[in-house]
Amino acid sequence: MKPRILIIEDNEQNLYLITFILEKHGYQVIQARNGQEGIETAKRDRPTLILLDIQLPGMDGYAVARALRSNASLDQVPIVAVTSYAMAGDRERGVEAGCTGYIEKPINPDTFMAEVEQHLLPVVPTTETPDEADE
Ligand code: MN
Repeated sequence: MKPRILIIEDNEQNLYLITFILEKHGYQVIQARNGQEGIETAKRDRPTLILLDIQLPGMDGYAVARALRSNASLDQVPIVAVTSYAMAGDRERGVEAGCTGYIEKPINPDTFMAEVEQHLLPVVPTTETPDEADE
């Protein structure tokens, strides 16, 4: 099954652009337009990775990240903050809130996919390898 990526983003242009890039690369996309909706969707749909806008109406991205991390079923999912606040302090705040990484806006369509994929967890093989079994 294709990895599912949840985008939590209130800006329609960014949402459209990010969705377009991810779908073009074969990812399944789930959208949420505010933090509360994003948290509920994440609990229900268990995405492979979450792209989280920091500037959201109401609950900001830091609060959303903390809420996601406090949920036992979501404490391992990579959360990548997406924000135009390209400042070191914001990066640190994001990490403290539980974000795995950081992508700066404006979105660069040429590099965005590679930046996202850096944060996807490697697929863990579920079967024992024959080499190990023989030794
Ligand atoms: Mn926003």
